[in-house]
Amino acid sequence: MEKIALNVKCPHCKKSLMDPYHRLHEKPSILLEVKTEAGEGKLRICSYYGCYTHESTVELKEGEVIHVFCPHCHKELTSTTMCEECGAPMIPLALQKGGKVYICSRVGCKKHFLSFENISEALSRLYHEYGGF
Ligand SMILES: [Zn+2]
Ligand SMILES: [Zn+2]
Ligand SMILES: [Zn+2]
Repeated sequence: MEKIALNVKCPHCKKSLMDPYHRLHEKPSILLEVKTEAGEGKLRICSYYGCYTHESTVELKEGEVIHVFCPHCHKELTSTTMCEECGAPMIPLALQKGGKVYICSRVGCKKHFLSFENISEALSRLYHEYGGF
């Protein structure tokens, strides 16, 4: 399966969350502020959809629900959408071209999904942008 690199922005202030200066898997990483039981720090996640590679400056304990915040406006990125697998709130990230990607806020849970208002339009956009799947 070909990989799709996501380009995401804050759902509140719409500023880009991509960090071109810190790459993961050769792509700009997604940079977020994170708050865990261990403290506050920076969380970077790989921009490839379905890839779970991440780096954090604070400890992320397996099973813990983390809180993430926009590094620009510092608002929490959270939603009332709950994870189907573990019941934790899903973290919404807005896609530059419309739609959202949701990732589970529980460390170790691999649940995530894409959400579009208009799925066929979104798929054709992805197709034109990335040359298909
Ligand atoms: Zn923001
Ligand atoms: Zn990756
Ligand atoms: Zn989950």
